[in-house]
Amino acid sequence: MNFGGDAGPRSLIRNQIEVSETRMRNGIAVLVPVFALVGVCAAFSDEGQNTAFRRIVAVLVLVSTLPAAYLVSRIRFGIIWWNRDMGHHSVPRASTYFVLYADLGVTVVLATFANHELALYGTALFAVISVYVAHFVRWAETVVHMVFTSCVIAVFAVLTWRQGYHDIAGILARAATSVIAVNATLVLLRSFSAGMLTSYRTQFANANRDPLTGLLNRRGFELWMQIAEEREPGRSGVLLLDIDNFKAVNDGSGHDGGDTVLRLLSRRLERVVGVDAAVARTGGDEFAIAVRGDIAGLTRLAEAIRGEVAVRSDDVPITVSIGVAQLASGAHGKLTGQEQIKEALSRADKAMYEAKSDGRNRVVADVSAQ
Ligand code: GH3
Ligand code: MG
Repeated sequence: MNFGGDAGPRSLIRNQIEVSETRMRNGIAVLVPVFALVGVCAAFSDEGQNTAFRRIVAVLVLVSTLPAAYLVSRIRFGIIWWNRDMGHHSVPRASTYFVLYADLGVTVVLATFANHELALYGTALFAVISVYVAHFVRWAETVVHMVFTSCVIAVFAVLTWRQGYHDIAGILARAATSVIAVNATLVLLRSFSAGMLTSYRTQFANANRDPLTGLLNRRGFELWMQIAEEREPGRSGVLLLDIDNFKAVNDGSGHDGGDTVLRLLSRRLERVVGVDAAVARTGGDEFAIAVRGDIAGLTRLAEAIRGEVAVRSDDVPITVSIGVAQLASGAHGKLTGQEQIKEALSRADKAMYEAKSDGRNRVVADVSAQ
C-alpha cells in the first residue's frame, strides 16, 4: 500500500470527504430536473417543439431526468469524485456516464427547438456540466466533453445562420459566448481543482509521516492498519521495537549522531520487511511494523530484524528489543477494527517491555490472543 508520496492515501481521503460528498450529490440531483425546466418552457413557446415528434422526444428526455436525479442521489461515488485519475476501474464510469447523459440530453432537447437561435442560447447550459467535468472526470473524457459541446455549438450556429434572421458576426458573437462559457469555466476550475487536490494529498501525506525518517508516524500507522484490515480482514500482526540504550548513543554522539542512527535503522527496517508491510516511527526511539502472518511467522521476522539491525561494523552498534502481537479475532469479535489495533499495540508494548526487562536485544511474542 502506498502511503506516502504525492499519490497519497486514496482510501483515506474517501473517509474524510463523505459528508461533503452527500451534500454535493444531493445538489446535483436537484439540478438535473431543473435543467428540464428549459425544455418545459420552450414547449409552451412557438420557438420550441413545434411537431408531435419533437414534443415526444423532448418529453422522453425531460422525464428521464427524474430517474437520473434519483440515481445520482443514490450512487455512492466516494473517492472517485475527488480522485478522478485514479481509483477503481469500474467506478469512474458512473461519472463518465453521467456526463455523457447530461451532454446528450441537453443536445437532444435543444435539437427539438424550432428556433435554432434559442437552441444556440441554450448551449450555455453546457457550462454547468463543465463545472462537474472540471472536478470529477478524467482528462481524456474532459477533452471529449469540450470537443463535443463546441461542435454542438458550431452546428446550432450554422443552423441559426441558415434561418437567415442574423448576420454572421452576430451569430459568431453568440456562438463564441457559449464556447467561452463552456470551455473557460472548465479550464479555470480544473486548474483550481488540481491544485486543491495536490495540496490536499501532500498535507495528508505529511500529517501521517515522520519528518526525520520519512516513515509513517503513529497516526499514519494506525490508519494503515485499519485500511489493511478493512481490505483484507484476517490475521495481521504488529512488531513494536525500541532501540536499546539509545540515550547513551545521544550522549556519546550528540543529538545529530542519534538522528543519523534513527535514519539508518529506518532504512534497514524497510529493507527487511519489504513492501507489503508498514514501518512507522511511533515515538522517540520506538518503531512499529504491521505485517500479515501467524505468530510464528511474525516472531521469525522479528528475529530477522534483530539480526539485520545489529551490524558489527557500525561505528555505533545498535541493538533492539522487540515485542510481537497478533490482532485478536474470535473471542475479541466485539471490538471494532480500531480497538483491535490499539489492543494489539498495547500487548506488543507489554511484550517489548518484557524483552527490555529480560536483558534487551531480544524478541518476546505475546501469545495471549492465540
Ligand atoms: P532502553 O533500552 O530502556 O530503551 O533505554 P533508552 O536509553 O533507549 O531509553 P529510552 O528508550 O526511554 O530513551 C529514548 C531516548 O530517545 C530519549 C530521547 O533523548 C531520545 N530521543 C527521542 N527522540 C529523539 C530524536 O528525535 N532524536 C534523537 N537523537 N534522540 C531522540
Ligand atoms: Mg530505547
